[in-house]
Amino acid sequence: MTTETLPRVFSGVQPSGLPHVGNYLGAFRNYIAMQDGHDAIYCIVDYHALTSTHDSELIRRNTHEMALGLLALGLDPEKAVLFRQSDRPEHAELAYLLSTVVPVSWVERTPSFKEKKRTQPDDVNHALLTYPVLQTADIAIYHARYVPVGKDQAAHLELAREIVRAWNARYGDYFVEPEAVFTDSPVVRGTDGVQKMSKSLGNVVEIFGDEAVIRKQIMSMVTDTQRVLRTDPGRPEVCNVCQLHRFFGDDYELIWDGERTARTGCVDTKRLLADRMLTFFAEARERRRELEAKPGYVEEVLRAGAETLAPMAAETLRVVRDRMGLG
Ligand code: ADP
Repeated sequence: MTTETLPRVFSGVQPSGLPHVGNYLGAFRNYIAMQDGHDAIYCIVDYHALTSTHDSELIRRNTHEMALGLLALGLDPEKAVLFRQSDRPEHAELAYLLSTVVPVSWVERTPSFKEKKRTQPDDVNHALLTYPVLQTADIAIYHARYVPVGKDQAAHLELAREIVRAWNARYGDYFVEPEAVFTDSPVVRGTDGVQKMSKSLGNVVEIFGDEAVIRKQIMSMVTDTQRVLRTDPGRPEVCNVCQLHRFFGDDYELIWDGERTARTGCVDTKRLLADRMLTFFAEARERRRELEAKPGYVEEVLRAGAETLAPMAAETLRVVRDRMGLG
């Protein structure tokens, strides 16, 4: 729960799809670890999801699924706050106020904006451009210092620091400069073996999908492309399947050795990974089923989370409006 003494943590996840292994290894592991010893606040960022989908039913469903997934993975509402971004509309007001000190060139140059221009050329909406400003507001409104995220968010976090610095310079020191916190797998590659695993790229291994679907996703993974024949030695350093084995068992070196000496083939290694991932997530998958059967549970957690944060959000807006000469 929020206190004045523990270091504050904030992070957000878009309800743009279902939780995947990249989310878990790159960010959610830290969400869960940091709920102890920190004052942790986690958010399903549905405003952000609107930059890439306009399907209202999908946003609502994915918000529910993402919250359910986080709770099943071990996010404990007794320890950390979990809420839905649009339930605290003060984020949007703060984003607007911060945007007045942000040169357009800063947001135009972000790698994610350039990528979205390429991946959704028919929907280069204005909110895509200002995405990092809203993200800064999400963090700054609660004065969070630590932000557990994957490496893809590093540039946004750097920009968030610049934005709060610019605001502080103009209106007086108030906001904390946030720092990204990475896991030891800050970039998890997708089933294509090249690009980052991402909901929008459709190269994910799901955590809560049907077992058959998850097995299929893992069996479709691209391994070491130079290993053509079963008898060719593999290169675990470049093979995405071998890399993932590091996180789902304590004998990965043995597995790597089997690949290097061609004792094992890629199919064996993938099958083993599928078994291990399913075992690793079995408890969370079971817990998800239990929580899903509790009517209204997720909504109640999200509602209570947003309510807890109301005084903090109001106080930040009060100070900011005052310093900016409003009201
Ligand atoms: P996605 O990229 O699938 O849309 P989000 O942007 O909602 O996922 O990311 C939620 C969190 O998970 C962020 O902190 C993000 O950096 C992290 N994350 C997402 N994909 C990966 C990945 N492939 N490797 C490491 N971290 C990731």
